[in-house]
Amino acid sequence: MHNVNLIWFRNDLRTLDNPALYFACKNNTLKIILALFISTPKQWKQNVISPRKISLIYENIIYLQKKLNQLGIHFFYHESSDYLDSINYISSFCHVHHVTSIFFNCEYGFLEYKRDKIVKQKLKRKNISINTFHDSTLIEPDIIKSKKNTVYKSYSHFKKKYILELKKNIPKCFSIPIKNNFENHSNLLFKIPKFSINFDDFDHDLFPIGEDSVLNVLKLFLKNNFSIYSHDNNLLNMNVTSLLSPHLSIGVISSRQCINLLLKKYPNVINSLDTCSWINELIWREFYKYLLYFYPDFYQKNNIYSWEHKIKWNQNSYHFKLWKQGQTGYPIVDAGIKQLRQLGWINNRLRMILASFLVKNLLIHWKQGERYFMSKLIDGDYASNNGNWRWMSSIDMDHVPYFRIFNPMLQSKKFDKHAKYIRKYIPELKNTSISDIHNPCNLNKIKKICFKYPMPMVNYYHSRNNTLLVLKRAKYELNK
Ligand code: FAD
Repeated sequence: MHNVNLIWFRNDLRTLDNPALYFACKNNTLKIILALFISTPKQWKQNVISPRKISLIYENIIYLQKKLNQLGIHFFYHESSDYLDSINYISSFCHVHHVTSIFFNCEYGFLEYKRDKIVKQKLKRKNISINTFHDSTLIEPDIIKSKKNTVYKSYSHFKKKYILELKKNIPKCFSIPIKNNFENHSNLLFKIPKFSINFDDFDHDLFPIGEDSVLNVLKLFLKNNFSIYSHDNNLLNMNVTSLLSPHLSIGVISSRQCINLLLKKYPNVINSLDTCSWINELIWREFYKYLLYFYPDFYQKNNIYSWEHKIKWNQNSYHFKLWKQGQTGYPIVDAGIKQLRQLGWINNRLRMILASFLVKNLLIHWKQGERYFMSKLIDGDYASNNGNWRWMSSIDMDHVPYFRIFNPMLQSKKFDKHAKYIRKYIPELKNTSISDIHNPCNLNKIKKICFKYPMPMVNYYHSRNNTLLVLKRAKYELNK
Protein backbone atom coordinates (compact mmCIF):
# COMPACT_ATOMS: atom_id res chain seq x y z
CA MET A 1 0.00 0.00 0.00
CA HIS A 2 1.22 3.49 -0.85
CA ASN A 3 0.68 6.57 1.20
CA VAL A 4 -2.22 8.64 -0.07
CA ASN A 5 -2.15 12.30 0.94
CA LEU A 6 -5.29 14.37 0.57
CA ILE A 7 -5.27 18.18 0.48
CA TRP A 8 -8.67 19.61 1.34
CA PHE A 9 -8.93 23.07 -0.26
CA ARG A 10 -11.34 25.52 1.31
CA ASN A 11 -10.44 29.19 1.67
CA ASP A 12 -6.96 28.88 0.18
CA LEU A 13 -7.45 28.59 -3.58
CA ARG A 14 -3.82 28.79 -4.63
CA THR A 15 -0.74 26.62 -5.12
CA LEU A 16 1.90 29.21 -4.18
CA ASP A 17 2.47 29.79 -0.48
CA ASN A 18 -0.05 27.18 0.55
CA PRO A 19 1.21 25.37 3.69
CA ALA A 20 -1.25 22.45 3.42
CA LEU A 21 -0.24 21.79 -0.18
CA TYR A 22 3.44 22.33 0.55
CA PHE A 23 3.56 19.81 3.40
CA ALA A 24 1.34 17.28 1.66
CA CYS A 25 3.79 17.23 -1.25
CA LYS A 26 7.04 17.32 0.75
CA ASN A 27 9.22 14.31 -0.16
CA ASN A 28 6.51 13.28 -2.57
CA THR A 29 8.31 10.56 -4.48
CA LEU A 30 6.36 7.64 -3.11
CA LYS A 31 3.00 9.17 -2.44
CA ILE A 32 -0.25 9.56 -4.25
CA ILE A 33 -1.41 13.12 -3.82
CA LEU A 34 -5.06 14.02 -4.20
CA ALA A 35 -6.86 17.33 -3.83
CA LEU A 36 -10.50 17.96 -3.05
CA PHE A 37 -12.86 20.91 -3.01
CA ILE A 38 -16.38 20.59 -1.66
CA SER A 39 -18.95 23.25 -2.48
CA THR A 40 -21.70 23.81 0.08
CA PRO A 41 -24.44 25.89 -1.61
CA LYS A 42 -27.02 25.59 1.16
CA GLN A 43 -24.46 26.69 3.71
CA TRP A 44 -23.35 29.58 1.51
CA LYS A 45 -26.96 30.67 1.15
CA GLN A 46 -27.35 30.64 4.92
CA ASN A 47 -24.13 32.62 5.26
CA VAL A 48 -25.48 35.12 2.68
CA ILE A 49 -22.51 34.72 0.32
CA SER A 50 -23.10 37.04 -2.63
CA PRO A 51 -23.67 35.61 -6.14
CA ARG A 52 -20.60 37.54 -7.32
CA LYS A 53 -18.42 35.91 -4.72
CA ILE A 54 -19.88 32.53 -5.74
CA SER A 55 -18.78 33.21 -9.35
CA LEU A 56 -15.34 34.25 -8.11
CA ILE A 57 -14.97 30.99 -6.17
CA TYR A 58 -16.17 28.89 -9.10
CA GLU A 59 -13.82 30.45 -11.63
CA ASN A 60 -10.89 30.16 -9.24
CA ILE A 61 -11.63 26.50 -8.63
CA ILE A 62 -11.36 25.87 -12.37
CA TYR A 63 -8.03 27.71 -12.42
CA LEU A 64 -6.80 25.79 -9.39
CA GLN A 65 -7.73 22.49 -11.01
CA LYS A 66 -5.45 23.34 -13.98
CA LYS A 67 -2.59 24.41 -11.72
CA LEU A 68 -2.85 21.22 -9.69
CA ASN A 69 -3.00 19.17 -12.85
CA GLN A 70 0.31 20.71 -13.95
CA LEU A 71 1.74 19.57 -10.62
CA GLY A 72 0.53 16.02 -11.24
CA ILE A 73 -2.12 16.27 -8.54
CA HIS A 74 -5.53 14.79 -9.21
CA PHE A 75 -8.28 17.26 -8.30
CA PHE A 76 -11.68 16.04 -7.12
CA TYR A 77 -14.79 18.11 -6.76
CA HIS A 78 -18.00 17.39 -4.91
CA GLU A 79 -21.14 19.31 -4.04
CA SER A 80 -22.53 18.84 -0.54
CA SER A 81 -25.44 20.86 0.71
CA ASP A 82 -23.90 22.21 3.92
CA TYR A 83 -20.99 21.69 6.30
CA LEU A 84 -22.64 18.76 8.03
CA ASP A 85 -23.11 17.01 4.72
CA SER A 86 -19.49 17.76 3.76
CA ILE A 87 -18.27 16.04 6.93
CA ASN A 88 -19.92 12.81 5.84
CA TYR A 89 -18.60 13.15 2.33
CA ILE A 90 -15.00 13.69 3.35
CA SER A 91 -15.14 10.67 5.59
CA SER A 92 -16.42 8.41 2.81
CA PHE A 93 -13.97 9.95 0.30
CA CYS A 94 -11.05 9.03 2.56
CA HIS A 95 -12.39 5.52 2.83
CA VAL A 96 -12.90 5.00 -0.93
CA HIS A 97 -9.51 6.49 -1.89
CA HIS A 98 -7.56 4.85 0.93
CA VAL A 99 -6.39 8.23 2.23
CA THR A 100 -3.69 7.87 4.87
CA SER A 101 -3.09 11.56 5.66
CA ILE A 102 -5.22 14.66 5.29
CA PHE A 103 -3.85 18.22 5.06
CA PHE A 104 -5.80 21.42 5.40
CA ASN A 105 -5.40 25.06 6.42
CA CYS A 106 -7.44 26.18 9.42
CA GLU A 107 -10.45 28.44 9.09
CA TYR A 108 -11.43 30.56 12.09
CA GLY A 109 -15.16 31.01 11.54
CA PHE A 110 -17.40 29.58 14.23
CA LEU A 111 -19.16 27.07 11.97
CA GLU A 112 -15.99 26.17 10.11
CA TYR A 113 -14.20 25.51 13.39
CA LYS A 114 -17.05 23.25 14.53
CA ARG A 115 -17.00 21.39 11.20
CA ASP A 116 -13.25 20.80 11.37
CA LYS A 117 -13.44 19.56 14.93
CA ILE A 118 -15.90 16.82 13.92
CA VAL A 119 -13.89 15.95 10.80
CA LYS A 120 -10.76 15.53 12.91
CA GLN A 121 -12.56 13.27 15.38
CA LYS A 122 -14.03 11.13 12.61
CA LEU A 123 -10.81 10.71 10.67
CA LYS A 124 -8.76 10.06 13.77
CA ARG A 125 -10.98 7.06 14.45
CA LYS A 126 -10.06 5.78 11.00
CA ASN A 127 -6.36 6.16 11.80
CA ILE A 128 -5.90 8.88 9.24
CA SER A 129 -3.14 11.30 10.11
CA ILE A 130 -4.44 14.87 10.40
CA ASN A 131 -2.21 17.79 9.48
CA THR A 132 -3.59 21.28 9.94
CA PHE A 133 -1.84 24.57 9.30
CA HIS A 134 -2.18 28.15 10.19
CA ASP A 135 -2.72 30.20 7.03
CA SER A 136 -5.43 32.82 7.02
CA THR A 137 -3.48 35.43 8.96
CA LEU A 138 0.14 36.47 8.80
CA ILE A 139 0.77 35.80 12.48
CA GLU A 140 -0.95 33.02 14.38
CA PRO A 141 -3.54 34.43 16.80
CA ASP A 142 -2.10 32.46 19.74
CA ILE A 143 1.15 34.38 19.47
CA ILE A 144 -0.43 37.81 19.99
CA LYS A 145 -1.11 37.88 23.71
CA SER A 146 -0.40 40.36 26.46
CA LYS A 147 2.31 39.85 29.11
CA LYS A 148 -0.40 38.38 31.33
CA ASN A 149 -1.30 35.99 28.52
CA THR A 150 -4.63 37.65 27.89
CA VAL A 151 -6.26 38.27 24.54
CA TYR A 152 -6.38 41.84 23.26
CA LYS A 153 -9.72 43.49 22.72
CA SER A 154 -8.44 46.84 21.62
CA TYR A 155 -6.96 47.39 18.18
CA SER A 156 -4.22 49.74 19.32
CA HIS A 157 -2.83 47.25 21.85
CA PHE A 158 -3.16 44.40 19.40
CA LYS A 159 -1.32 46.38 16.75
CA LYS A 160 1.54 47.30 19.07
CA LYS A 161 2.18 43.68 19.96
CA TYR A 162 1.63 42.58 16.38
CA ILE A 163 4.29 44.96 15.06
CA LEU A 164 6.74 43.73 17.72
CA GLU A 165 6.21 40.16 16.50
CA LEU A 166 6.50 41.21 12.89
CA LYS A 167 9.82 42.92 13.60
CA LYS A 168 11.11 39.74 15.23
CA ASN A 169 10.13 37.53 12.34
CA ILE A 170 8.42 38.09 9.02
CA PRO A 171 6.82 34.74 8.14
CA LYS A 172 8.26 33.45 4.88
CA CYS A 173 6.18 32.14 1.98
CA PHE A 174 5.98 28.44 1.17
CA SER A 175 7.29 27.46 -2.22
CA ILE A 176 5.24 25.75 -4.90
CA PRO A 177 5.70 21.95 -4.77
CA ILE A 178 7.69 20.19 -7.47
CA LYS A 179 5.76 18.10 -9.96
CA ASN A 180 4.54 14.78 -8.64
CA ASN A 181 5.51 12.08 -11.11
CA PHE A 182 4.34 9.14 -9.07
CA GLU A 183 1.08 8.98 -10.98
CA ASN A 184 0.51 10.96 -14.12
CA HIS A 185 -2.90 12.56 -13.98
CA SER A 186 -2.43 14.95 -16.85
CA ASN A 187 -5.47 13.62 -18.74
CA LEU A 188 -7.81 13.83 -15.83
CA LEU A 189 -9.16 17.38 -16.28
CA PHE A 190 -12.95 17.17 -16.06
CA LYS A 191 -15.47 19.96 -16.28
CA ILE A 192 -16.44 21.14 -12.84
CA PRO A 193 -20.24 21.51 -12.76
CA LYS A 194 -21.71 24.84 -11.70
CA PHE A 195 -22.65 25.00 -8.03
CA SER A 196 -26.41 24.79 -7.36
CA ILE A 197 -26.72 28.40 -6.29
CA ASN A 198 -27.14 31.81 -7.98
CA PHE A 199 -24.17 33.23 -9.84
CA ASP A 200 -23.62 36.82 -10.88
CA ASP A 201 -21.08 38.21 -13.29
CA PHE A 202 -18.36 40.60 -12.12
CA ASP A 203 -15.77 42.89 -13.67
CA HIS A 204 -12.89 40.61 -14.64
CA ASP A 205 -10.61 43.54 -15.45
CA LEU A 206 -10.87 44.74 -11.85
CA PHE A 207 -10.91 41.28 -10.33
CA PRO A 208 -8.98 38.86 -12.54
CA ILE A 209 -9.06 35.11 -12.01
CA GLY A 210 -6.27 32.87 -10.77
CA GLU A 211 -3.29 33.29 -8.51
CA ASP A 212 -0.92 34.35 -11.30
CA SER A 213 -3.05 37.32 -12.34
CA VAL A 214 -3.71 38.24 -8.73
CA LEU A 215 -0.01 38.27 -7.96
CA ASN A 216 0.27 40.69 -10.83
CA VAL A 217 -2.43 42.88 -9.26
CA LEU A 218 -0.32 43.03 -6.12
CA LYS A 219 2.85 43.83 -8.08
CA LEU A 220 1.11 46.61 -10.01
CA PHE A 221 -0.30 48.08 -6.82
CA LEU A 222 3.15 48.10 -5.23
CA LYS A 223 4.71 49.65 -8.32
CA ASN A 224 2.08 52.29 -9.07
CA ASN A 225 0.01 53.08 -6.01
CA PHE A 226 1.77 52.02 -2.85
CA SER A 227 3.69 55.28 -2.56
CA ILE A 228 0.51 57.41 -2.84
CA TYR A 229 -1.67 55.06 -0.78
CA SER A 230 -1.40 56.81 2.57
CA HIS A 231 -2.32 60.14 1.00
CA ASP A 232 -4.99 59.13 -1.50
CA ASN A 233 -6.52 55.83 -0.38
CA ASN A 234 -9.78 57.51 0.63
CA LEU A 235 -10.38 59.30 -2.65
CA LEU A 236 -13.50 58.09 -4.38
CA ASN A 237 -12.79 58.88 -7.98
CA MET A 238 -9.56 56.90 -8.24
CA ASN A 239 -8.77 53.26 -7.61
CA VAL A 240 -5.74 53.83 -5.42
CA THR A 241 -6.18 50.84 -3.14
CA SER A 242 -4.94 47.35 -3.96
CA LEU A 243 -8.34 45.77 -4.83
CA LEU A 244 -7.03 42.57 -3.30
CA SER A 245 -9.84 42.01 -0.79
CA PRO A 246 -11.88 39.57 -2.96
CA HIS A 247 -8.77 37.45 -3.52
CA LEU A 248 -7.68 37.58 0.11
CA SER A 249 -11.18 36.58 1.15
CA ILE A 250 -10.96 33.25 -0.70
CA GLY A 251 -7.22 32.78 -0.37
CA VAL A 252 -6.16 33.23 -3.98
CA ILE A 253 -3.42 35.31 -2.40
CA SER A 254 -2.20 35.33 1.21
CA SER A 255 -1.27 38.15 3.55
CA ARG A 256 2.19 36.49 3.77
CA GLN A 257 2.64 37.06 0.05
CA CYS A 258 1.48 40.67 0.41
CA ILE A 259 4.01 41.51 3.13
CA ASN A 260 6.89 39.56 1.61
CA LEU A 261 6.48 41.15 -1.79
CA LEU A 262 6.09 44.58 -0.24
CA LEU A 263 9.33 44.19 1.71
CA LYS A 264 11.13 42.80 -1.30
CA LYS A 265 10.22 45.86 -3.33
CA TYR A 266 10.60 48.38 -0.49
CA PRO A 267 13.06 46.88 2.05
CA ASN A 268 13.09 50.12 4.06
CA VAL A 269 9.48 49.67 5.05
CA ILE A 270 10.76 47.26 7.69
CA ASN A 271 11.87 50.36 9.65
CA SER A 272 8.44 51.97 9.54
CA LEU A 273 6.06 49.05 9.92
CA ASP A 274 3.99 50.87 12.54
CA THR A 275 3.39 53.94 10.40
CA CYS A 276 2.81 52.26 7.05
CA SER A 277 -0.88 52.83 6.21
CA TRP A 278 -1.24 49.81 3.95
CA ILE A 279 0.21 47.48 6.58
CA ASN A 280 -2.16 49.07 9.07
CA GLU A 281 -5.10 47.99 6.90
CA LEU A 282 -3.77 44.45 6.65
CA ILE A 283 -3.47 44.42 10.44
CA TRP A 284 -7.13 45.44 10.77
CA ARG A 285 -7.94 42.33 8.76
CA GLU A 286 -5.80 40.25 11.10
CA PHE A 287 -7.41 41.85 14.15
CA TYR A 288 -10.94 40.86 13.14
CA LYS A 289 -9.86 37.30 12.41
CA TYR A 290 -8.10 37.25 15.76
CA LEU A 291 -11.28 38.35 17.57
CA LEU A 292 -13.28 35.74 15.70
CA TYR A 293 -10.75 33.10 16.68
CA PHE A 294 -10.79 33.93 20.39
CA TYR A 295 -14.36 35.09 20.81
CA PRO A 296 -16.47 32.93 18.52
CA ASP A 297 -19.39 33.48 20.89
CA PHE A 298 -19.14 37.22 20.51
CA TYR A 299 -19.87 36.78 16.85
CA GLN A 300 -22.59 34.20 17.34
CA LYS A 301 -24.64 35.78 20.07
CA ASN A 302 -25.55 39.38 19.57
CA ASN A 303 -26.50 40.02 23.18
CA ILE A 304 -23.07 40.07 24.72
CA TYR A 305 -22.97 43.86 24.85
CA SER A 306 -26.19 44.59 26.55
CA TRP A 307 -26.19 48.28 25.68
CA GLU A 308 -26.95 47.29 22.12
CA HIS A 309 -30.23 45.90 23.41
CA LYS A 310 -31.11 49.03 25.25
CA ILE A 311 -31.08 50.98 22.01
CA LYS A 312 -34.51 51.67 20.54
CA TRP A 313 -33.68 50.81 16.95
CA ASN A 314 -35.82 52.18 14.20
CA GLN A 315 -37.86 49.39 12.61
CA ASN A 316 -38.66 51.48 9.53
CA SER A 317 -38.49 49.06 6.59
CA TYR A 318 -39.28 51.89 4.15
CA HIS A 319 -36.18 53.80 5.27
CA PHE A 320 -34.09 50.64 4.93
CA LYS A 321 -35.46 50.16 1.41
CA LEU A 322 -34.52 53.72 0.41
CA TRP A 323 -30.98 53.16 1.70
CA LYS A 324 -30.64 49.85 -0.17
CA GLN A 325 -31.92 51.42 -3.38
CA GLY A 326 -29.67 54.46 -3.18
CA GLN A 327 -32.65 56.82 -2.78
CA THR A 328 -31.67 58.60 0.42
CA GLY A 329 -31.27 62.00 -1.23
CA TYR A 330 -27.64 62.19 -0.05
CA PRO A 331 -25.61 61.89 -3.27
CA ILE A 332 -22.51 60.42 -1.65
CA VAL A 333 -24.54 57.72 0.10
CA ASP A 334 -26.60 56.93 -2.98
CA ALA A 335 -23.58 56.81 -5.29
CA GLY A 336 -21.89 54.40 -2.87
CA ILE A 337 -24.86 52.06 -2.77
CA LYS A 338 -25.13 52.18 -6.55
CA GLN A 339 -21.48 51.23 -6.96
CA LEU A 340 -21.90 48.44 -4.42
CA ARG A 341 -24.85 47.05 -6.37
CA GLN A 342 -23.10 47.41 -9.73
CA LEU A 343 -19.62 46.19 -8.83
CA GLY A 344 -19.96 44.29 -5.57
CA TRP A 345 -17.08 46.38 -4.25
CA ILE A 346 -16.62 49.87 -2.79
CA ASN A 347 -13.66 51.34 -1.00
CA ASN A 348 -13.32 51.52 2.76
CA ARG A 349 -14.31 55.18 2.99
CA LEU A 350 -17.62 54.54 1.23
CA ARG A 351 -18.31 51.49 3.38
CA MET A 352 -17.89 53.68 6.44
CA ILE A 353 -20.10 56.45 5.04
CA LEU A 354 -22.89 54.00 4.17
CA ALA A 355 -22.67 52.23 7.51
CA SER A 356 -22.65 55.44 9.51
CA PHE A 357 -25.66 56.80 7.65
CA LEU A 358 -27.69 53.62 8.14
CA VAL A 359 -26.90 53.17 11.80
CA LYS A 360 -26.30 56.67 13.09
CA ASN A 361 -28.74 58.69 10.98
CA LEU A 362 -31.49 56.20 10.23
CA LEU A 363 -30.95 54.31 13.50
CA ILE A 364 -31.51 51.01 11.71
CA HIS A 365 -29.94 47.96 13.38
CA TRP A 366 -26.40 47.39 12.14
CA LYS A 367 -27.13 43.69 11.59
CA GLN A 368 -29.40 44.61 8.69
CA GLY A 369 -26.62 46.57 7.02
CA GLU A 370 -24.10 43.84 7.71
CA ARG A 371 -26.32 41.26 6.03
CA TYR A 372 -27.04 43.51 3.06
CA PHE A 373 -23.33 44.16 2.50
CA MET A 374 -22.60 40.44 2.69
CA SER A 375 -25.28 39.73 0.08
CA LYS A 376 -23.67 42.17 -2.36
CA LEU A 377 -19.91 42.21 -1.69
CA ILE A 378 -17.59 40.19 -3.91
CA ASP A 379 -15.12 40.30 -1.00
CA GLY A 380 -17.69 39.47 1.71
CA ASP A 381 -15.70 38.22 4.67
CA TYR A 382 -17.51 37.41 7.87
CA ALA A 383 -14.84 38.63 10.29
CA SER A 384 -14.06 41.89 8.47
CA ASN A 385 -17.65 42.72 7.63
CA ASN A 386 -19.01 41.98 11.07
CA GLY A 387 -16.07 43.64 12.82
CA ASN A 388 -16.32 46.82 10.77
CA TRP A 389 -20.08 47.09 11.15
CA ARG A 390 -19.70 46.75 14.89
CA TRP A 391 -16.95 49.35 14.90
CA MET A 392 -19.03 51.80 12.89
CA SER A 393 -21.99 51.21 15.22
CA SER A 394 -19.90 51.52 18.41
CA ILE A 395 -21.04 48.02 19.39
CA ASP A 396 -17.52 46.60 19.25
CA MET A 397 -15.10 45.37 21.88
CA ASP A 398 -12.92 48.42 21.41
CA HIS A 399 -15.62 50.78 22.75
CA VAL A 400 -15.65 53.22 19.87
CA PRO A 401 -17.38 56.43 21.09
CA TYR A 402 -21.09 56.31 20.25
CA PHE A 403 -21.10 59.98 19.25
CA ARG A 404 -18.81 59.34 16.27
CA ILE A 405 -21.08 60.13 13.36
CA PHE A 406 -19.97 60.82 9.79
CA ASN A 407 -21.31 63.95 8.15
CA PRO A 408 -22.07 62.92 4.54
CA MET A 409 -21.79 66.52 3.35
CA LEU A 410 -18.27 66.94 4.71
CA GLN A 411 -17.25 63.49 3.52
CA SER A 412 -18.49 64.35 0.07
CA LYS A 413 -16.54 67.61 -0.10
CA LYS A 414 -13.40 66.04 1.25
CA PHE A 415 -13.21 62.83 -0.74
CA ASP A 416 -15.03 63.73 -3.96
CA LYS A 417 -14.17 67.40 -4.23
CA HIS A 418 -15.23 67.81 -7.87
CA ALA A 419 -18.18 65.40 -7.52
CA LYS A 420 -16.79 63.29 -10.37
CA TYR A 421 -17.43 60.05 -8.56
CA ILE A 422 -20.96 61.05 -7.56
CA ARG A 423 -21.87 62.10 -11.09
CA LYS A 424 -20.52 58.84 -12.47
CA TYR A 425 -22.95 56.83 -10.38
CA ILE A 426 -25.79 59.36 -10.38
CA PRO A 427 -25.79 60.78 -13.91
CA GLU A 428 -29.04 62.66 -13.13
CA LEU A 429 -26.80 65.11 -11.25
CA LYS A 430 -24.56 65.92 -14.19
CA ASN A 431 -25.96 69.45 -14.51
CA THR A 432 -26.31 70.10 -10.78
CA SER A 433 -23.69 72.41 -9.30
CA ILE A 434 -20.90 70.84 -7.25
CA SER A 435 -21.89 72.95 -4.28
CA ASP A 436 -25.53 71.73 -4.39
CA ILE A 437 -24.35 68.12 -4.73
CA HIS A 438 -22.30 68.50 -1.58
CA ASN A 439 -25.06 70.26 0.35
CA PRO A 440 -28.35 68.46 -0.30
CA CYS A 441 -29.48 69.08 3.24
CA ASN A 442 -29.30 72.82 2.90
CA LEU A 443 -31.60 72.98 -0.11
CA ASN A 444 -35.30 73.54 0.25
CA LYS A 445 -38.10 72.03 -1.80
CA ILE A 446 -38.11 74.95 -4.21
CA LYS A 447 -34.41 74.74 -4.93
CA LYS A 448 -34.40 70.97 -5.12
CA ILE A 449 -31.02 69.47 -5.96
CA CYS A 450 -32.40 68.06 -9.22
CA PHE A 451 -35.93 67.12 -10.23
CA LYS A 452 -35.02 63.56 -11.07
CA TYR A 453 -33.33 63.09 -7.72
CA PRO A 454 -35.05 62.70 -4.32
CA MET A 455 -34.94 65.24 -1.49
CA PRO A 456 -32.96 64.04 1.56
CA MET A 457 -35.05 61.38 3.28
CA VAL A 458 -34.11 62.77 6.70
CA ASN A 459 -32.48 65.98 7.81
CA TYR A 460 -28.91 65.11 8.71
CA TYR A 461 -28.72 67.40 11.73
CA HIS A 462 -32.08 66.38 13.20
CA SER A 463 -31.45 62.66 12.69
CA ARG A 464 -28.00 62.98 14.20
CA ASN A 465 -29.35 64.73 17.29
CA ASN A 466 -32.11 62.17 17.62
CA THR A 467 -29.60 59.29 17.44
CA LEU A 468 -27.39 60.91 20.04
CA LEU A 469 -30.36 61.18 22.39
CA VAL A 470 -31.38 57.55 21.81
CA LEU A 471 -27.83 56.29 22.33
CA LYS A 472 -27.32 58.43 25.39
CA ARG A 473 -30.55 57.07 26.84
CA ALA A 474 -29.42 53.50 26.11
CA LYS A 475 -26.16 54.12 27.97
CA TYR A 476 -28.10 55.62 30.86
CA GLU A 477 -30.49 52.64 30.98
CA LEU A 478 -27.53 50.31 31.07
CA ASN A 479 -25.86 52.06 33.98
CA LYS A 480 -29.06 52.53 35.97
P1 FAD B 1 -6.57 47.98 0.65
O1 FAD B 1 -6.83 49.36 1.12
O2 FAD B 1 -5.60 47.80 -0.44
O3 FAD B 1 -6.10 47.15 1.93
C1 FAD B 1 -5.41 45.89 1.82
C2 FAD B 1 -6.19 44.81 2.51
O4 FAD B 1 -6.31 45.10 3.90
C3 FAD B 1 -7.62 44.64 2.03
O5 FAD B 1 -7.67 43.87 0.85
C4 FAD B 1 -8.28 43.98 3.22
O6 FAD B 1 -8.05 42.60 3.23
C5 FAD B 1 -7.55 44.61 4.39
N1 FAD B 1 -8.33 45.73 4.92
C6 FAD B 1 -8.33 47.01 4.51
N2 FAD B 1 -9.13 47.77 5.29
C7 FAD B 1 -9.66 46.93 6.21
C8 FAD B 1 -10.57 47.10 7.29
N3 FAD B 1 -11.10 48.29 7.62
N4 FAD B 1 -10.92 46.01 8.00
C9 FAD B 1 -10.42 44.80 7.72
N5 FAD B 1 -9.55 44.58 6.71
C10 FAD B 1 -9.17 45.63 5.97
N6 FAD B 1 -13.28 43.90 3.96
C11 FAD B 1 -13.39 42.67 3.45
O7 FAD B 1 -12.39 42.10 2.99
N7 FAD B 1 -14.59 42.03 3.46
C12 FAD B 1 -15.73 42.60 3.96
O8 FAD B 1 -16.79 41.97 3.96
C13 FAD B 1 -15.64 43.91 4.47
N8 FAD B 1 -16.74 44.55 4.96
C14 FAD B 1 -16.61 45.83 5.44
C15 FAD B 1 -17.74 46.48 5.96
C16 FAD B 1 -17.64 47.78 6.46
C17 FAD B 1 -18.86 48.47 7.05
C18 FAD B 1 -16.41 48.44 6.43
C19 FAD B 1 -16.28 49.85 6.96
C20 FAD B 1 -15.28 47.81 5.93
C21 FAD B 1 -15.36 46.50 5.44
N9 FAD B 1 -14.23 45.83 4.92
C22 FAD B 1 -14.36 44.56 4.44
C23 FAD B 1 -12.88 46.42 5.03
C24 FAD B 1 -12.40 47.26 3.84
O9 FAD B 1 -13.35 48.20 3.49
C25 FAD B 1 -12.02 46.42 2.63
O10 FAD B 1 -11.21 45.36 3.01
C26 FAD B 1 -11.25 47.26 1.61
O11 FAD B 1 -12.03 48.34 1.22
C27 FAD B 1 -10.86 46.40 0.44
O12 FAD B 1 -10.23 47.13 -0.56
P2 FAD B 1 -8.72 46.85 -0.97
O13 FAD B 1 -8.49 45.41 -1.14
O14 FAD B 1 -8.42 47.70 -2.15
O15 FAD B 1 -8.00 47.34 0.34
